[in-house]
Amino acid sequence: MTVRKPAQTRRARAARRRAKRVAASGSDLTDAEWFAILDAWARCAYCGADGVALQRDCVLPISRGGRYTLENVVPACRSCNASKSNEEVTVWMRRRRLDEPAFLVAWYGIVAGLRTPPRASADEEAGASVIP
Ligand SMILES: [Zn+2]
Repeated sequence: MTVRKPAQTRRARAARRRAKRVAASGSDLTDAEWFAILDAWARCAYCGADGVALQRDCVLPISRGGRYTLENVVPACRSCNASKSNEEVTVWMRRRRLDEPAFLVAWYGIVAGLRTPPRASADEEAGASVIP
């Protein structure tokens, strides 16, 4: 087996730096968790837009100590994601006249539901061995 030297392109170095930063922040959101979050919301968590591309948004921004975790990531449309940026979510939602109480209720409900997924069926358990 040969040991490959890591790619030395600018993009590869930037990707490694970003991965290191995300890892250091304690982020642990898996792709499966992200798809479960997307399924549960099925729309922008903030403005309710559906049928649009949804991006991962940290409710508590990384710059304020937030992380990419099951508890802190919601789907946001590009417009909300860009507008919210590093702002505190409740301040931002009030200023945008978005339905903050409805968001908070939905968010807590969805996180609680995702933390305790229903027992896997026998079929799913049989398929578990294919998960790396
Ligand atoms: Zn939105």
